Amino acid sequence: MKLILLGAPGAGKGTQGIIISDKYSIPIISTGDMLRAAIREGTELGLHAKSLIDKGALVPDAVIMAMLKERLQKSDCSNGFILDGVPRTINQAEALAEITEIDKVLEIHVPDEFIIDRITNRIVCPKCGASYNAVSKRPREEGICDRCGSKLEARADDNKETLLERLSVYHKMTEPLKDFYADQGKLVVIDGTESVDDVTVKVLETLRG
Ligand SMILES: [Zn+2]
Repeated sequence: MKLILLGAPGAGKGTQGIIISDKYSIPIISTGDMLRAAIREGTELGLHAKSLIDKGALVPDAVIMAMLKERLQKSDCSNGFILDGVPRTINQAEALAEITEIDKVLEIHVPDEFIIDRITNRIVCPKCGASYNAVSKRPREEGICDRCGSKLEARADDNKETLLERLSVYHKMTEPLKDFYADQGKLVVIDGTESVDDVTVKVLETLRG
């Protein structure tokens, strides 16, 4: 199953991504993880990206997509994958279509007001990406990730001003992907305002269907 997860920052796609990944034994691929891995492995693209990042420059789409192409050829992607945070623009989506055919695009839809309320209390595991909420979804043991046992820290960029900026970028740059994939009959929109478990039920139903 080749899947794209769409959703505004804080919509809960990270949480659902992990559940789908565990259930279907397919990897989650995000731009950040991919960049970090390529830099760590010292690949040509990774080194190029690092030189840009060190200069404070943005990594251009062409480099991101070349890196994604390499990543999708790895053996752990043989049964499929989940893309989280990539593609994030129509340009990237068009480039992706040249690399591989996507089966389904799931949007976890949550209105901005909900997200703003939810994310200001968010805690993300720095190791595995599992996310918690200081009010509504606390880890079983305070400050420790349920999934991997790592120490949890609040994300530095989870302040309100940054969030509003990220939401605005999402609406402007990424949301047009909904129409792009709806036109191909691949988009499924799921209401992400319900509890994590209820959203999961709907997500898994959609993937079975
Ligand atoms: Zn963890």
